[in-house]
Amino acid sequence: MSTAEPAERAAELRATLDEASYRYYVLDDPTIEDAAYDRMLRELTDLEAAHPELVTPESPTQRVGAPPSTTFAPVRHDVPMLSLGNAFGHDELREFDARVRRGLGIGDVDPGVQYVCELKIDGLAISLRYEGRRFVRGATRGDGTTGEEVTANLRTVRAIPIRLRADPPGERLEVRGEVFMPRGAFAALNEQLEQAGKPLYANARNTAAGSVRQKDPAATAARNLSIWTYQVVGAAGLASHSESLDLLRELGFPVNPATRRVLGIDEVISFVDEWAEARKDLDYETDGIVVKVDSIAQQQQLGFVSRAPRWATAYKFPAQQVTTKLEEIEVYVGRTGALTPVAHVTPVSVGGTTVRNATLHNIEEIRRRDLRVGDTIVLQRAGDVIPEVVSAVLDARDGSEVIWEMPAACPACGTAAVREEGEVVWRCPNPWCPAQRIGGLLHFTGRGGMDVEGAGYAVVNQLIERGLLAEPADLYRLSIETLEGLDRFARKSAENLMGAIAGSRRRPLARILNALGIRHVGGQTALDLAAWLTREVPREEGEDETTWTRRVADRLRSAEAEALTAVFGIGRVVADGIADYFRAEQTRDTLHRLIDAGVVAEAPALGAAVETMEGPLSGKTLVVTGILAGFSRSEAEEAIRVAGGHPASSVSAKTDYLVAGDKAGSKLEKAEQLGVPILDEEAFRRLLT
Ligand SMILES: [Zn+2]
Repeated sequence: MSTAEPAERAAELRATLDEASYRYYVLDDPTIEDAAYDRMLRELTDLEAAHPELVTPESPTQRVGAPPSTTFAPVRHDVPMLSLGNAFGHDELREFDARVRRGLGIGDVDPGVQYVCELKIDGLAISLRYEGRRFVRGATRGDGTTGEEVTANLRTVRAIPIRLRADPPGERLEVRGEVFMPRGAFAALNEQLEQAGKPLYANARNTAAGSVRQKDPAATAARNLSIWTYQVVGAAGLASHSESLDLLRELGFPVNPATRRVLGIDEVISFVDEWAEARKDLDYETDGIVVKVDSIAQQQQLGFVSRAPRWATAYKFPAQQVTTKLEEIEVYVGRTGALTPVAHVTPVSVGGTTVRNATLHNIEEIRRRDLRVGDTIVLQRAGDVIPEVVSAVLDARDGSEVIWEMPAACPACGTAAVREEGEVVWRCPNPWCPAQRIGGLLHFTGRGGMDVEGAGYAVVNQLIERGLLAEPADLYRLSIETLEGLDRFARKSAENLMGAIAGSRRRPLARILNALGIRHVGGQTALDLAAWLTREVPREEGEDETTWTRRVADRLRSAEAEALTAVFGIGRVVADGIADYFRAEQTRDTLHRLIDAGVVAEAPALGAAVETMEGPLSGKTLVVTGILAGFSRSEAEEAIRVAGGHPASSVSAKTDYLVAGDKAGSKLEKAEQLGVPILDEEAFRRLLT
């Protein structure tokens, strides 16, 4: 493999994973299945382990999940809600066990490690806080560091105790678990919807997630959610994980009855095999088994690597596969102009969901798997919405199958498709393409954008067709009278939509930047860009938000790609994307026109940007490298900024300190050569306070 190839592959994986996380965590609208996501994340983790110079602060391996949607108040988790590493197959379970034993200094002849096996519930991870015996706060996992406050909704889940049955060990207690929708409740809900002639929900996991985030707790209550709890945070005096589960049961929490304490990896494997079949009879979806080292002392000895504990792993059951017929391939046009082939298949049931479409990714994938229209194909789905085509069944061919060709032109506007060098994706290059326009406007009004409730496909499409909506700013010029003229739009709906539009006029800067749909700018980049702009364009005494927002927009329009690459978190490709957006004739004034139409960014408190400049690291430049146990890369950089220092990306003679974590590579060597003082994580922490 040449050195360019891993770099390209890593960038590609990061982009795909970022988009997927964003759809999954922020929009609750996944585009790829879990197994495919896990596989790509694994590939990226391995790639970065082999080439540490490829690790970027914004890599999905460096952060847990994605930013929360801001519909509910943010909740900072005192102890981050981490993700687990994955294991596929028996061999990887044995490798996990070998790593654990090495870490604990346990040899082959010694007795095995005491593990606890739990069913991995396919639901929504949440945190519950109690003061005394009282339930005081419930929050979603969010990105692992910051979640959303959903206390009122969680109170409606009957399995969650509102009052504990016994006194907890301390004054405060935090309990974690997984909220889910039982299969029976999910089937009943879909039956009701069907009778009412409404569209059905695709799967229980997303329905549960959506239910917890309902704005009206009564709606959550009607969904019959349930929960299994599996973790106690910060209770002193517990010697093992099984003791904490006993405590949970004692206090009145539901703990899954299948949970079992076993000795050694062979017993873990028996448990896994047993449930691979038995899980089909459960009233809820499980997608794997969580294996944890039981002893707390051993857990502490093993510690963490990157974002995951070394003492636990999540075994994933193999994806469910079925065969069906590939009837037709159709090309969809995304908001970025990407042309994506989608397979229409003979409807088939996989794991309780009826599947009609499957993603084919791109033409290279279709060629690589030699998929032809008319083929009998193997479909795979692992508890998620869009299934994947695994392969064609070659023996089933009778010669009538047709090799499919990518159309040379955009199916929406007829413009000749183009493919940039080094890309696999064909795009429609027409900036006025109607399919891209509707995609872009839906992104703008969507949950990750301005969050305008009620501005979905049917409404946006009609507004475009009637010439009322050509670009985002037009949304803020609509009136009740215009909206009332739409098909099936009564006065009440018009009023609701006008209210939602008015309510979206003031949003955090990062959200507005994300809503614009600038190429390569996703949720995290929008946050980084907004943080930079807040420092770069400090709000002045007595300045109103509109004036400040306009100065921010001016700054963006004059920004050179070169200067943007100096912004933390922004690389060359992203910088070009931003510069192009604010230079291209059809988009350069979009943000200014939004401001003209009354949109403003929430301005930071006066002096906020200046205050952070004074601190224990004032005037110091620090570089962070390698993997830290307690910080993601971006958290470490933010901590430096908050302490008044400057985080930099490369080591030079001007660097004051190098913070070196696990697997520090070339930067560590360079710092040693230059005599730059090197800090481990502990020393770095002390320096911050
Ligand atoms: Zn087009």
